[in-house]
Parts: sequence; structure tokens; C-alpha cells
Amino acid sequence: MGLSLSLTPGAAEEEEKTYDVAIIGGGPAGTSAAIYTARADLKTIVIDKGLTAGALGMTSKIENYPGVPEPVTGAELVERMRRQAERFGAEFVQDKILSTELEGDVKVLWGGEATYKARAVVIATGSMGRGKRVPGEDEFLGRGVSYCATCDAAFFRDKVVAVVGSNDEAVEEALHLTKFVSRLHMIVPTSEIKAEPALVAELTANPKVEVLLSTRLRAVEGNGTVTGVRVAPRGGDEQVLPVHGAFIYLQGARPITDFLDGQLSLSPGGCLPVDDEYRTEIPGVYAVGDVICDHVKQAVVAAAEGVIAALAIDRYLHGRKSTRADWS
Ligand SMILES: Cc1cc2nc3c(=O)[nH]c(=O)nc-3n(C[C@H](O)[C@H](O)[C@H](O)COP(=O)(O)OP(=O)(O)OC[C@H]3O[C@@H](n4cnc5c(N)ncnc54)[C@H](O)[C@@H]3O)c2cc1C
Repeated sequence: MGLSLSLTPGAAEEEEKTYDVAIIGGGPAGTSAAIYTARADLKTIVIDKGLTAGALGMTSKIENYPGVPEPVTGAELVERMRRQAERFGAEFVQDKILSTELEGDVKVLWGGEATYKARAVVIATGSMGRGKRVPGEDEFLGRGVSYCATCDAAFFRDKVVAVVGSNDEAVEEALHLTKFVSRLHMIVPTSEIKAEPALVAELTANPKVEVLLSTRLRAVEGNGTVTGVRVAPRGGDEQVLPVHGAFIYLQGARPITDFLDGQLSLSPGGCLPVDDEYRTEIPGVYAVGDVICDHVKQAVVAAAEGVIAALAIDRYLHGRKSTRADWS
């Protein structure tokens, strides 16, 4: 009796921490799904790595989103969508999902900051991932090259590092690194840092930080581990900055699926195949927005897909039959 009493609260706590729906990516696709799942009383969490890390969040002006006649920045539009989802009870956390276990009734997502469990998962990570790497990047991955300061900053205590990127994610990761490193070169490919002004001000005021604007990363150099980064300032000569670590947050145009570790099959173009209710091949796992194949890359389309998936998830979690054909 005593034993069962002591076990019961643990089980209840575990149940308490398991969400009905975990959504990876808080762009228009993920946030619209959250509005509908939260409003359907499903316990919903949205995990997003940064407001300006997605396609909409980084867009300077949107004029064609229905119901928003005045031009707004993409970040403002995403922010409004997130507030709407929060009003219905959706929880938003800033974290980057690094790996997942999607099989089974309870799915597990590992982020840099925490682990999340849910009975259904929506993948809405967009297509701002990179395909092509710079020379040396793959060779020194895990030996000085990193994509996660939260995970790896402590290895660079009192060392010199480079952070490469221009969005909120890059700046936040750089700010985290400043607590550990002796010096940080912020290599920004654009002519200004395209992140929240308060974050940029905090970074540039830090005496450990040197910002190099309009500068491209050409290669990561090393000998067993990273020894430097080769950079090219616009209109100037290439130079090698001696560093022990290179944290890279550049964007491209490839679906972001690296955290899946091959658990879902991808099309030759690297996107996630889904059926007409946005179900992937694993039950309880859905994909919406720019991360899927045959998709028109517009915010309103991504939002609509999020809504269709949310309605399908409600049916899935309540054991109701879909009106559509099954994957098989
Ligand atoms: C320059 C540009 C201009 C555009 N202009 C327009 C326009 O005028 N009108 C229009 O309708 N559409 C426009 N688009 C297209 C539109 O922005 C996209 O179709 C839409 O944003 C796709 O939505 P999404 O939610 O699928 O992806 P995204 O908006 O890319 O959002 C994905 C989210 O996932 C998060 N994420 C990614 N990986 C992880 C991870 N591992 N862990 C946690 N979070 C993660 C990102 O931080 C991001 O917030 C434009 C796109 C670009 C690039």
C-alpha cells in the first residue's frame, strides 16, 4: 500500500508533463495548428528556436496575408499569431529540437534546454535549412563546429569562438556563449544584424564581442580540431581568424528535418511526404508548411495546412475515424 502510494504521484506527475500535442516550429504553420488544438482543449506546446529564424519571421514586409491590410513585418505577424494561440492556452517555449523518438504512443522530443513528451507531434520547421556546407564544416562537426551553444558552450570556456549568422537565434546563441568564452567574433553575412534590436544592442555592447558585418564564412580550418575560420569581407581580402570553435547559424532553402535522424523517409528534395490530412508515415506525427513536399510557399497556405492537421489530430487523439483514406 505504502509502495503504491509513493509511486502514484510520480505517475501523475509524468502524465501531467505529457502534452497532447507538441508542435516543432512556431511559424504560420505551427502557430495556426496551435490555435486550433489549444482551442479544442488539447494541451499544446509550441517549441521554436527563434522568432526571426523562420521564413516568415525574417521577412521585412508582408502585404498579402488576408485580414491584415496594412503592411507588417513578418516577425510582427508571427508574434500576433502566437499571442492568439496563447490566448487559447497554447504554451510557447524557445528551444531548438535536436533529436526525436517518434514511434509509440508517447513521442519524445529532445531540445537544447529540455525534453518534451506528447501524444501527437506536428513538424512545422519550415525550409530555411542549409544543404551546402562550407569546406571543413562537416569534417570538424563535433570537433569545434557546433550548431548549439546551449549544448556546447561549456567546452569553450576561456577560448575564442566565431558565431556565424544574422538572426535572433544567432544573436541569442552568441549572448549565451559570451558567459563562457574569452572572445567572440560575430560574423554577419548581411550589412546589419537582422535580429531584435534589444538583443543586438546587448551583443554589441559586450566587450568580448567583435562584430564583422557583410562578411561571409568561406571555410572552417583545423588540424584534428578547429583552429580558425576563413572569412571574406565584402570588397576586402579573405583572412583567417584564429578560433577554437565555430557556431554556425546560416540559412538556406532546404526543409529542416535534421533532428529526425532518419525516422521519417524524405523525398529526393529533402521534404516530408504527407497524406491529405498532413499525416506522415508514423501514426500521431504530422507535418505542415514549407517542410512538406508539393507545397505553395505562402504564409496563408502554411497556416491552412496547420489547421487541417490540427483537426485531424483532434480526431486521432479522441479515437475518431478519419473521413480520409489511410496511409497504407
Ligand atoms: C524572403 C521571403 C519573403 C516571403 N514573403 C512572403 C509574402 O510576402 N507573403 C507570403 O504569404 N509568404 C511569403 N514568404 C513565404 C512564407 O514566409 C513561408 O511560406 C511561410 O513562412 C512558411 O511557414 P512555416 O511555418 O512552414 O515555416 P517558417 O515560417 O519558416 O517557420 C518555421 C519555424 O520553425 C522554427 N524551427 C526550425 N527548426 C527548428 C527546430 N529544430 N527546433 C525548434 N524550432 C525550429 C523556426 O524558428 C521558425 O520559427 C516569404 C518567404 C521568404 C523567405
